[in-house]
Amino acid sequence: MNLRLLLSLLLVPLLFAQTAFADLTRLSDNVYAYVGTTDASPARSFAANAGIIIGKDGVLVVDTLTSAKEGQRFLADIRKVTDKPIRYVVNTHTHLDHAFGNCVFAGLGAVVISHTADRALLEKLGTDILKKVGGYGLKPEDMVGTEISLPSLFFSDRLSIDLGGEVVELIRVEPSHTEGSVVVWLPKQKLLFSGDILFTDFHPFLADGDFNGWYKTLDSLLALDVERIVPGHGPLSGKKDLREMKEYLARFDGAARQLAAKGMDGDAIAAELLKILPKRSMAEWMVGYNVKSRYLKKQ
Ligand SMILES: [Zn+2]
Repeated sequence: MNLRLLLSLLLVPLLFAQTAFADLTRLSDNVYAYVGTTDASPARSFAANAGIIIGKDGVLVVDTLTSAKEGQRFLADIRKVTDKPIRYVVNTHTHLDHAFGNCVFAGLGAVVISHTADRALLEKLGTDILKKVGGYGLKPEDMVGTEISLPSLFFSDRLSIDLGGEVVELIRVEPSHTEGSVVVWLPKQKLLFSGDILFTDFHPFLADGDFNGWYKTLDSLLALDVERIVPGHGPLSGKKDLREMKEYLARFDGAARQLAAKGMDGDAIAAELLKILPKRSMAEWMVGYNVKSRYLKKQ
């Protein structure tokens, strides 16, 4: 066998492995996350981010992606980084793309944590959403083995967890993306997991959103001692992105209200919004979905 052929045979699986699996990005000695995933297909959790914080005593997982399959992919990537026990899962909120992989980690004995309100939301709607995932573009095979795994620990204001050498602060923000959205703050590292309070380069999912609470939340995060932010969707971000998110939300809401008041139908409003909003990923279908779920009822 000549050398070139041998080399290419050795390199092909390596290249494939790198492109096929977006491994966790190292953000510090003990923090890793998926950030900036561009494949926003339903089977790849709509490009939702997730991450881990490793302490002396074990691992805390932030969000768990869309399904058992996706949770298993995440777990396999975690095991490339650490073999410590996974002790906690925090759901920044309990939407499909952040909490339906919980079952994988609960099965390993991790304590699943969320805000009280978002636990209630998952308890009320989870099983039904699981039955209707086709509406989100998911196929039955994408969801094989997925079960709703409710948080067993829930809180109303703030919770601190000492992982051994690293204290993690869970802070309930104003009702915003969801009623019980939570951010995960590492004060020593000035690092924040914002969940879907922040979408960077992606159009936000707004159906359950409270705009006034969301603006207040973005202001409170701007005042927090933070340098780097893992957004719910999009690349590693900072305070500039929080400001842009606030502007984007205000622009969307203002224009959508005006257009709806003119009596335009949902598709026409969405088409108009797509012309005036800054370009963001997933906007093509999300803008229409948001308009129909929020603005048309109020006419
Ligand atoms: Zn999300």
